[in-house]
Amino acid sequence: SLQRAFKIVTQAQNDLIKSTPQLDHALSNSAAQGLPSIAIAPAQGVSLSILCQLVQARHVLEIGTLGGYSTLFFANSVPGVKVTSIEYNPKHHAVAKENTTDATNVEIILGAALDVLPKLAAEGRKFDFVFIDADWDEQREYFDWAVKLTNKGKAIYVDNVVRQLTEAEADGSEKGRALIDHVRQDERVEATLIPTLSTHKVKTSELVDGYLLAVVK
Ligand code: SAM
Repeated sequence: SLQRAFKIVTQAQNDLIKSTPQLDHALSNSAAQGLPSIAIAPAQGVSLSILCQLVQARHVLEIGTLGGYSTLFFANSVPGVKVTSIEYNPKHHAVAKENTTDATNVEIILGAALDVLPKLAAEGRKFDFVFIDADWDEQREYFDWAVKLTNKGKAIYVDNVVRQLTEAEADGSEKGRALIDHVRQDERVEATLIPTLSTHKVKTSELVDGYLLAVVK
C-alpha cells in the first residue's frame, strides 16, 4: 500500500541523514521557545544542500527564516558559501540569530520580504540559489524578485507548491495555480514541479507535497 511505501521511504531517508548537534539544537531551541514546527524536514535539508552543491552556490538567499533550521543546511552546503535570510517576525528572527551564532557566513535580515528584496536588488546583490519559504499571499512577487536577483544558470526553489495546488481543491484557494500560470509565462526561466513525500508529517493530507524548481536562463 501507499502507507507502507511511505514508511519504507521515511526509514531509508532517515538512515541517510547525518544530523549534527548544531542542527539538533536549532530544532530543540526553536520548540522550547514556542516557534511553530513548520521547518523543513531533515531529508529536505539534505536535498537543499545537495542542490546548492550542484549549482556551486556562493550566495544563497532564503525568504522565510523561522528558527534558521533550513538556513543551517545552506550555511554548511558549499565551502565559502554566504547565506542571506529574510524574516519579518522579530521573535523568529531572534531565535534564528541564536541558532546560527556559530555560523559566521549567515546574515539574517529582520524585515518583510517585499521591503528587503528591492533593497538587495538596489545594492546589486546576486544569488545562485533562492529558497522561497514564506507566506503565500505575495508568492508571485517573491518569484519575480528572485528571478531578478538570481545569476544566469542558477536556481530558484519554491517550497510547498504541490500542497498549495492540492489543497486548493479543498479550500477554493488558487494561489498554487496562480503561481504556475505566472511562472509559465516567464520566458526568463525553465521550471518544473518536483513532487515529494513529506514523510515526517503525520496527517495523510500532508504526505504528498513538492516544490517548484526553476533555472534562470
Ligand atoms: N525556512 C524555514 C525552515 O525550513 O526552517 C521555515 C520558514 S516558515 C515555513 C515561514 C517563515 O516566513 C515564518 O517564520 C514567517 O514568519 C516568515 N514570513 C512569512 N511572511 C513573511 C514575509 N512577508 N517576509 C518575511 N518573512 C515572512
